[in-house]
Amino acid sequence: MRTTITRLALVLLLMSCSPPGSGDPAASGEARTLEDPAADMDGVLRVLVYHDMEGLTGQSDPNTFRFSHPERYAVGRTYLTGDVNAVVAGLFDGGADEVHIVDGHGSGNPEPDLLLDQLDGRAELVSRNEVFDAYVDLTEPGAYDAIAVVGMHAKTGSGGFASHTYTLGIDFLLNGMAVTETELVGYSWGRVGVPVIFASGDDRLAADLAGPMPWIEFVTVKTATSASSANPRPVDEARAEMREASARAMANHRSARAMRLAEPATAQLHAVPPADLSMLASVPGIDYADQRVTFEASDFRAAYDGLVGLVTVARGGYAAVMSETGRAMAGPAFGPTYSDALFDRWLDFESDRWSPVAPPAAAVRTFHGFR
Ligand SMILES: [Zn+2]
Repeated sequence: MRTTITRLALVLLLMSCSPPGSGDPAASGEARTLEDPAADMDGVLRVLVYHDMEGLTGQSDPNTFRFSHPERYAVGRTYLTGDVNAVVAGLFDGGADEVHIVDGHGSGNPEPDLLLDQLDGRAELVSRNEVFDAYVDLTEPGAYDAIAVVGMHAKTGSGGFASHTYTLGIDFLLNGMAVTETELVGYSWGRVGVPVIFASGDDRLAADLAGPMPWIEFVTVKTATSASSANPRPVDEARAEMREASARAMANHRSARAMRLAEPATAQLHAVPPADLSMLASVPGIDYADQRVTFEASDFRAAYDGLVGLVTVARGGYAAVMSETGRAMAGPAFGPTYSDALFDRWLDFESDRWSPVAPPAAAVRTFHGFR
């Protein structure tokens, strides 16, 4: 009996205090904290607008956000520019002094997705001469007072229009919370006390954000009927609401919340088709189970970088679709041809006959956000 009590006491003791260095704030109920926005440092109210391209007004065709479908993408650019203009106007109405815009979509178009000749001339595009990650590389203390996000989509598994997180078949979890891209932006800017104040997208994104970011002025622009279909609201009506809501968000931006991830953090990448993580199942040193890889990270940036690294692994699953496509296009010749090519690569390398194809000379170009 005595031993039982001692063991019980030990268990209770272990449960009551989280062991030092366990790195699992989620387990102790502190996955994140919400804070008042950092004070404005320069007397200029500067807002950064992220645009994505899946949660646009008037949009129900996935090809409108795909650069590989030029005719439909051209239509998507008009949706995008109209939505961004509505929000830019609203932010200025609400008291913003400067509005900057960055590409959070990455269509593959080397030019901005926005139609610059139709864009509100008061807004300025963020650009750099080198590749940068729009979510994490712009975050500096005092750079911005508030963040707005336009044309966003719900997270993987939410049943939203084009719902995903970061890329196809990927689900990011931070301290046990499956997060949307809007939350990734929020945790990145929360590092320097800057809140996300406005978002637009479909009804499923509205549901995704209602719990974790209730202070956001959110405009629902369509109802998702599947990942590839939606019922859009009348465009003029939705954009008028976007302008009003973004003005209100700006006027009230001091009452929004900056969200800071509890650190150290537990990060988890979860893969669903077409991505796949099962190739890691028997790799030593990897915490893998059921299409999930979990790791501890010292801070948000380390968690994000680790997740992005794992995305590269999970995208190995896309090869299954590539081989299905190859077989469909080349017929029965695909398998033997591929097998011969693999053998030739091996034999050529082993015989010193092969060297990697030199990458094309880097073109001098401007980057507006995600590629
Ligand atoms: Zn996105």
